[in-house]
Amino acid sequence: MRFSFFDREAIVRELTEITFDLVIIGGGITGAGIALDAATRGMKVALVEKNDFSSGTSSKSTKLIHGGLRYLKQFHFKMVAEVGRERRIVHNLAPHLVIPEKMLLPIMKGGSMGMFSISAGLKIYDLLAGVKGDDQRIMLNKKKAILTEPLLPEDRISGAGFYAEYRTDDARLNIEVLKTAHANSTLAVNYMETTDFLYADSKVKGIICKDRISDRSVNIRGHYVVNAAGPWVDDIRKLNHSLTGKHLHITKGIHMVISREKLPVRQSMYFEVPDGRMIFIIPREDISYIGTTDTDYKGDKDKLYATREDAEYLLKAVNSTLPSIELTLNDIISSWAGIRPLISEEGKSASEISRKDEIFISGSGLISIAGGKLTGYRLMASKVVNIVSGKTKKEFGKSFRKRKSRHFPLCGSNFSNYDEVINYINKIAVKLSLMGMPDNRASYLVHNYGYQTEKILDQVLPGKGTDMEETLLMKELAFCINEEMVVCPLDFLERRTGRLLFDIHSVEKYYEKVTGYFRDIFDWPDNRYEKELAIIESKINCSKNLQT
Ligand code: FAD
Repeated sequence: MRFSFFDREAIVRELTEITFDLVIIGGGITGAGIALDAATRGMKVALVEKNDFSSGTSSKSTKLIHGGLRYLKQFHFKMVAEVGRERRIVHNLAPHLVIPEKMLLPIMKGGSMGMFSISAGLKIYDLLAGVKGDDQRIMLNKKKAILTEPLLPEDRISGAGFYAEYRTDDARLNIEVLKTAHANSTLAVNYMETTDFLYADSKVKGIICKDRISDRSVNIRGHYVVNAAGPWVDDIRKLNHSLTGKHLHITKGIHMVISREKLPVRQSMYFEVPDGRMIFIIPREDISYIGTTDTDYKGDKDKLYATREDAEYLLKAVNSTLPSIELTLNDIISSWAGIRPLISEEGKSASEISRKDEIFISGSGLISIAGGKLTGYRLMASKVVNIVSGKTKKEFGKSFRKRKSRHFPLCGSNFSNYDEVINYINKIAVKLSLMGMPDNRASYLVHNYGYQTEKILDQVLPGKGTDMEETLLMKELAFCINEEMVVCPLDFLERRTGRLLFDIHSVEKYYEKVTGYFRDIFDWPDNRYEKELAIIESKINCSKNLQT
């Protein structure tokens, strides 16, 4: 079966016919990682997601695969070591999608961190994570720091640390992990909401879902059920009548996008602001994005947006570190907001709460996992699947293969190193140019799709267009409909391509064409077409305009 809406009916039918070794609730990176880990061990796995895959926190992060330097300050050495080592592994699994990114950490006069503490901190960071060779941190004196980043204020800078991290696209990483799980027999379906549980002898033996496409109720049976619903973990525990003891503490973080022209940083930066928090600026193609905030959140988890207050905090932070830039609210092109599913710790503020993950097992056997980070998705997955594997052995005497996800390159990722990625980008640029298409899209395509780029270029469209940028976009859309379970235009514009976040102008230019393609392919009636247009318009509005 293809991982496509065209085969959704068949996938849903099969979901109701089999008893799975493992059923997973939640199609963010945590659920996707668990599915892949379990599938590669030989488990029969089902996964359901109530909206689109990665529509929760896993498309709203800072999009870094990082060890969490700031957690050193909180003495979380074990977590920094584990997650830090993961960076290289995740890079090797998808070198085109998890790309090396040098980070500049300026040391400001009057700041809480001096040259010595930064030097020692970064050294420990490298040692814990086993960073070697050119990737090891170097310290820059004042002159070198300013040469590296001329936007830094000469009178206030005393030097900088320069160290290695990785940058990704969280939603694309999420979908490639799921596609790889699908290629290993996982049945995953989006727009399928868990509304209750199936029980036998008071033990959870499956889930009841509402299929949001057909409006039907669907029962999925499984020996074990994992709740990987991120910020909704406690809602699912409540459905299971097991919300006792520890619970989630939800905090919100926003990012805002500024044109590269206005904020022309030469590389990523990580800097301290007057309240002691740390902020990132990450350049990406024609834009730079800034993040993030960390504030307690008690509102509607399905309706998130950046407020003027959030944005003013970040503007102030950047303007105090790079005063020549003078950013204002008018410079914000777009923004996004996400929520962190942290585990509550008595008396600690949002920024102080640990990002470590925890597993809760209810009396009826529901296994819930919360906390953690995008970077550590494989480690979290392995802990959960070890539990499921142990329980299966005990209850059914059935054994599975050992964990293998470390050696499973993600879809489109058969590159042996980053040099190969660069060579492939050059090859694609030539190909695009021969096809009369914009060759400057080569880097975007390869970083998002890896070796699948040629599949995109091979897509056949119904008509011949004259706008080659549009033709390329439509080929990308056809690929995502055929191979990435895209159900509606926003799945494509926001999550598969990241355009709503990073290239909102192209969304404004092409969303009617994109929606028209859906109408033609899926034979949508006019009212569905109009409804989808209204959804995108409201999203554009929310992304461009801050709420009060
Ligand atoms: P989610 O991605 O939210 O997935 C849970 C899914 O469950 C959702 O898609 C939801 O729709 C689904 N669901 C809920 N209820 C149901 C139901 N009833 N039925 C079916 N499905 C359901 N980590 C990093 O490593 N690097 C970073 O740079 C980074 N930056 C961050 C910045 C911000 C602002 C935030 C908020 C987080 C950041 N993180 C970062 C953390 C990281 O993004 C999260 O840890 C991770 O994305 C959580 O993934 P998840 O799968 O647990 O949750």
